[in-house]
Amino acid sequence: MFDIIEQARLGELHFKSDPASGLKSIIAIHNTKLGPALGGCRCIEYDSDQDAIHDVIQLAKGMSYKAALAKVPQGGGKAVIIKPKGTFNRAALYNAFGRFVNELGGRYITAIDSGTTLEDMDEVGRVTPYVSGSHSDGLDPSPNTALGVLAGMKAAALQRYGNSKLKGLTVAIQGIGNVGFQLASLLHNEGAKLLVADLDETKIKQARAAFHAEPMAPEQFCSAHCHILAPCGLGGSINDNSINSLSCDIIAGSANNQLTHPQLGQQLHNMGILYAPDYIINAGGLIQVSLGMRHASHQEISNKTWGISETLYDIFSRSCVEDLPPSTVADMMAEEILYEEQREV
Ligand code: NAD
Repeated sequence: MFDIIEQARLGELHFKSDPASGLKSIIAIHNTKLGPALGGCRCIEYDSDQDAIHDVIQLAKGMSYKAALAKVPQGGGKAVIIKPKGTFNRAALYNAFGRFVNELGGRYITAIDSGTTLEDMDEVGRVTPYVSGSHSDGLDPSPNTALGVLAGMKAAALQRYGNSKLKGLTVAIQGIGNVGFQLASLLHNEGAKLLVADLDETKIKQARAAFHAEPMAPEQFCSAHCHILAPCGLGGSINDNSINSLSCDIIAGSANNQLTHPQLGQQLHNMGILYAPDYIINAGGLIQVSLGMRHASHQEISNKTWGISETLYDIFSRSCVEDLPPSTVADMMAEEILYEEQREV
């Protein structure tokens, strides 16, 4: 266990079991150099406790890197709740989770992520002030995450095609959830053609009706013949198997941990596929909740979110000059901020 912690340079790892509500939760605080750790709470089923630990550590690390390059005054943290089997009392579960967050005294601030809703965060907010993104504060991060992905796609299109316009490009979206649906809407308005995959048929039907999106089977996503592949479901879409079936120019989506291991970034680079590093392009939600907590204006939030485009463009430029994958360049830039002494953001 300590090997994993040291390898990820993780600050803290906290566990909570509350048999009364069925809560089994883990909170990872990666780095607080730039401010209190901020990151969503994921509630999904895991094959093993080890998988949940691995997930929360990698996600928390991603949040530190994301905050550093999004230039928001936050550290990186994340929570997972191992989804209880069968029926459970949702309010009691999130109430218990809120008490867990509260015990950490503000070193970790929670928000929504896969499997959690604004209503769940309302429940968390009854027992702790350390939550951002609920009905009561109006800080739903998903629409702004989608806006950031759109900004990132434009930077990638500019780099790849010399033009940031998305009109006429085919974009394949995996996961028409909180972010994927909003992204589909923005892309539809830009005049992009949409291919959509989701495990949930009703979401496909909604995307079809709203955006004339063409459905595809979930297992066809990675081989979709498209300009931009947008993973917006869970992580791990790009792995040792799927990489061989790719038929796209650009990978740009909201999912965290899209590459199952870092060497895949080099392989994508060698294949001439432009990869927009996940934690850069999906920073819009973090920007929304971090600046929103500080009562920043809509304009300030929007400007910083469009800044994702510039950050990515810098990364792509450095990637060309140094002949390094964008994922490696992004890590180097984040580590320069997080680990170099005396550096201010
Ligand atoms: P969500 O749970 O609302 O939506 C995910 C969707 O993906 C669901 O509709 C699910 O059915 C679908 N899905 C899962 N696995 C799939 C598969 N193999 N094939 C096809 N569809 C699949 O989640 P979300 O909030 O939209 O987040 C999506 C991703 O973006 C997650 O990885 C999350 O960590 C990341 N993210 C979200 C935010 C945010 O603001 N919500 C911010 C940053 C990153």
